[in-house]
Amino acid sequence: MADNRTFVVVGGGLAGAKALEALREKGFDGRLVLFAAEDHLPYERPPLSKEYLKTGEKLDEAFVHDREWYDANRVDLRLGAPVVAIDPAAHEVVTGDGERTAYDRLLLATGSSPRRLNLPGADLDGVLYLRTIEDSDRLRSAFRPGKRVVFVGGGWIGLEAASAASEAGAEVTVLEALDLPLVRVLGPRVATVFAELHREHGVDLRTSVQVSALEGDAGRVTAVRLADGSLVPADTVVVGIGAAPNVELAERAGLAVENGVLVDAQGRTSDPDVFAAGDIANHELPVLGRRIRVEHWATALNQPVAVAAGMLDQEDRYDELPYFYTDQYDLGMEYIGLGSPDDEVVVRGDLSQREFIAFWLREGRVVAGMNVNVWDVVDDVKALIRSGVVVDRVRLADPDVPLADVEQANSRGT
Ligand code: NAP
Repeated sequence: MADNRTFVVVGGGLAGAKALEALREKGFDGRLVLFAAEDHLPYERPPLSKEYLKTGEKLDEAFVHDREWYDANRVDLRLGAPVVAIDPAAHEVVTGDGERTAYDRLLLATGSSPRRLNLPGADLDGVLYLRTIEDSDRLRSAFRPGKRVVFVGGGWIGLEAASAASEAGAEVTVLEALDLPLVRVLGPRVATVFAELHREHGVDLRTSVQVSALEGDAGRVTAVRLADGSLVPADTVVVGIGAAPNVELAERAGLAVENGVLVDAQGRTSDPDVFAAGDIANHELPVLGRRIRVEHWATALNQPVAVAAGMLDQEDRYDELPYFYTDQYDLGMEYIGLGSPDDEVVVRGDLSQREFIAFWLREGRVVAGMNVNVWDVVDDVKALIRSGVVVDRVRLADPDVPLADVEQANSRGT
């Protein structure tokens, strides 16, 4: 019998597109509608701060599916049509023109937005953010030999884009509020690797600095003023100070929201007919035994499979460890798990050569691992984290010992 239900997806990013794909693969035969704020077909964002930012090439590879796929899968695509309200009682979404679309089940995958710099001069021309294809194009145009590009924030956006700017020949300054970039994620020992990497490539990395204003002339930014009164001259300022989940629709619809939309391991919100996935989902993660909200590509890529199952009342749950990667200059890395700056760090390999695996340990157990210029080890690191064994630190640091064989001899009381 034909399924006459309508499933609506709000959000045209990776999570939304992957949910459409999973719903069809799992046999959903009813009507599928996608509302997207941007005019583009859904695309992946990692290239925007990496390969595409550097070269302007291979944009086609960023798109999750081509238009034919949406036609073949009978997806009613509403691009450039942001949903402005949800009416959960009526089971309807409302677009800007007032049109209402009824749903049986709704998925919110609205992603996040760059945090804005709330300082005098922040709206001057030449102050840029990075989220969309157009943003990436604007940054690339500004990354020219001899141009002074100042990054506010030494996070993933700041550092990846700084490497692109530096490779393009720009004079690059990175302003970071903390004493090391990425220190809140990696802790001081590994964060130092990234600080040195950028300094070796000529980046003026200034840490423990506060930005107090942006100065301009004729409406265009000319400098960043620091709290000590000094000026950092700038032709372009790129702001990468974090992102905020787009949860306004969910909040106004009365869904439970607390650091993102609260959902179970199938993406189900406090309303059983409304689901959430990707950046906005503060989801149960059984492997960690707690909730987590992850603003990384891998969650948007993988979580929708379990969420689609939930929407179809099928069994499945999302239980993958957080994963992300970066490319900066000749450094490539992958990170899996969830460490904290307070964890003990054990290194296998050579930090100074930037070829190593770092492990974050809590009570003797590996909770996260990061491989830098070492490849094909993520599955082994993941297995080690999931095993929960107490490790022998000497064996863990020894590249000749397989990762499957690093358990401390007496850790099980034998
Ligand atoms: P981010 O990675 O959270 O880094 C933001 C950085 O800016 C933090 O170090 C933060 O320090 C600092 N900061 C905050 N306010 C500041 C201020 N007023 N002045 C100077 N520094 C300030 O965020 P992002 O780089 O903007 O990236 C946005 C999102 O995209 C994040 O969710 C990120 O994970 C994601 N992304 C991921 C990748 C990847 O996985 N490779 C690449 C690009 C983007 P505090 O910690 O003290 O706040």
